[in-house]
Amino acid sequence: MEDRLVSNGFRSQDDEQEYSLRPKTLAEYIGQSKIKQSLGVYMKAASARGEPLDHMLLYGPPGLGKTTLANIVASEMGHSIRITSGPAIERPGDLASILTNLNQGDVLFIDEIHRLSHAVEEVLYPAMEDYALDIMIGKGPSARSVRLDLPRFTLIGATTRAGMLTGPLRDRFGMSFRLELYTPEELALIIERSAQILKISCEKGGALEIARRSRGTPRIANRFIKRVRDYAQVQASGVITAEVAIEALRMQEVDDLGLDRTDRSMLTVMINKFGGGPVGLETLAATTGEDAGTIEDVYEPYLMQLGFIMRTPRGRVCTHLAYRHLGLSVPESAANPEQIKLDV
Ligand code: ADP
Repeated sequence: MEDRLVSNGFRSQDDEQEYSLRPKTLAEYIGQSKIKQSLGVYMKAASARGEPLDHMLLYGPPGLGKTTLANIVASEMGHSIRITSGPAIERPGDLASILTNLNQGDVLFIDEIHRLSHAVEEVLYPAMEDYALDIMIGKGPSARSVRLDLPRFTLIGATTRAGMLTGPLRDRFGMSFRLELYTPEELALIIERSAQILKISCEKGGALEIARRSRGTPRIANRFIKRVRDYAQVQASGVITAEVAIEALRMQEVDDLGLDRTDRSMLTVMINKFGGGPVGLETLAATTGEDAGTIEDVYEPYLMQLGFIMRTPRGRVCTHLAYRHLGLSVPESAANPEQIKLDV
């Protein structure tokens, strides 16, 4: 999955580019207007009181701007950010050392926060609630617990699905925001902005064609620009026009809606092997050889947004839109989004 051009996960090739393309202020951050509006108010209020911002949970598929938002919060509040991730904090001591090195008002960003171990989470609770660290001194019967004060910091946790967090952890966040997939118009604005920074000449029509294929995800949009630029330089006059964008991405086997071979083969399996569904997630994972979590976090959000698949109480089903997109004749039994009782 990570090698796919349309993967929304971070790839090492993205590194340098992501840094330079990352918006630095809330005003530059495109889309997610509801989140921006609320955050703007909360940040102003906290600043006026001279207090750090409440702990915040950001959730949604990868590549939608969670890390970017955390960086913006830190810089707009005038503080530093410390970035780490759930799997990187192996032992309670690792978290204790991160926490004791924070300064008042700093932001601690923990990506994939649902992957923290139970023991590490236990350290996080008093840190979030009371800005305190409980440490054990000594061993055996003479062991005692000592409470250390921590600077007042803001924890920003990010996860692909809020449902994977334990209840006690979720309850300790003062606010939580769900990031939505971006519309093609929003993505086109992001692409035009990135093209400017990268000094690529890109027409509006070109930006929109790239946007339509970017699966609602800025990270993918930014990755596409580079591939399309290469094509524009070699095959065209260096300018990204609509035709150049369409042709360049077709060469990468990305279709008009941004689906690649893997998406199409998943839909084909659902149709050919399971009569369009319903098919359970685990069965689908076993048949396609993909990880169930990857299907749920990476493929499904976009295929559901397109209305190609739906979750029903009995499993996933392909809708008539999926049949049409694949150029197949639509059977009578194919799901129609309007007639199905949804459980999502
Ligand atoms: P996540 O943490 O959710 O995986 P990131 O914050 O790393 O996603 O975003 C990936 C890239 O997408 C960033 O480097 C940035 O260039 C771009 N990006 C994300 N959100 C926006 C946005 N709202 N406006 C402009 N660019 C964005």
